[in-house]
Amino acid sequence: MQAPSHAPHSSAELVCELCRGFYDLGWASGTGGGISIRDEDGIWIAPSGVQKERIAARDVFLLDAAQLDEARILRRAADPALRISECTPLFFNAYRDRGAGAVLHSHSMWAVLAARLFSPEGGAARFVVQGLEMQKGLRGKGCFERVEIPIIPNTARECELTESMAAAMAAHPDVDAVMVAGHGVYVWGESWVQAKTQAECLDYLFRAVVEAHRLGLPLEGSPA
Ligand SMILES: [Zn+2]
Repeated sequence: MQAPSHAPHSSAELVCELCRGFYDLGWASGTGGGISIRDEDGIWIAPSGVQKERIAARDVFLLDAAQLDEARILRRAADPALRISECTPLFFNAYRDRGAGAVLHSHSMWAVLAARLFSPEGGAARFVVQGLEMQKGLRGKGCFERVEIPIIPNTARECELTESMAAAMAAHPDVDAVMVAGHGVYVWGESWVQAKTQAECLDYLFRAVVEAHRLGLPLEGSPA
């Protein structure tokens, strides 16, 4: 019989369900990407280096939401061989600095290509888009506004992004996302629904800018 501490939990189930959806979108292939959700019990985070579309609820870690300076594990994965996600300190940036209810990380091809357009060398830059209806899905944004998402340089290990991500968040308080050159994007929201909605709208905007560039169409805000 399964130990009660490893009983399935709705937020743990939701992490698994959303990871399957993100896998289908191409956001979490090759074990990359993932999502973390905060509820009244704490912060639920998937294990590291596993096939994100095949995670079981019993293998989702639970962390203490009252302890945001460092990750304190309340419940481990049922499988003792599993380690907690490499993204944990990055997810914690959004929980600590923005009071997020959920944070997701995508390795979307559109995010990678959009970042490459604005940061050909992989350095710090900003993705810019303007004039698209889907901008309305971003917190506080209208469709005619200029939207700027910070891009930070990638690092050899995911956890080494922690400080530069926090600095980019502080410099761009009007948006709930940080792109990582050659890597993907972190997106958060006050709930998992808002985090998912913003991530979907951003992915659409990334794709729109990349495709417009490919077609040679002038798009407000995009690079020449
Ligand atoms: Zn990643």
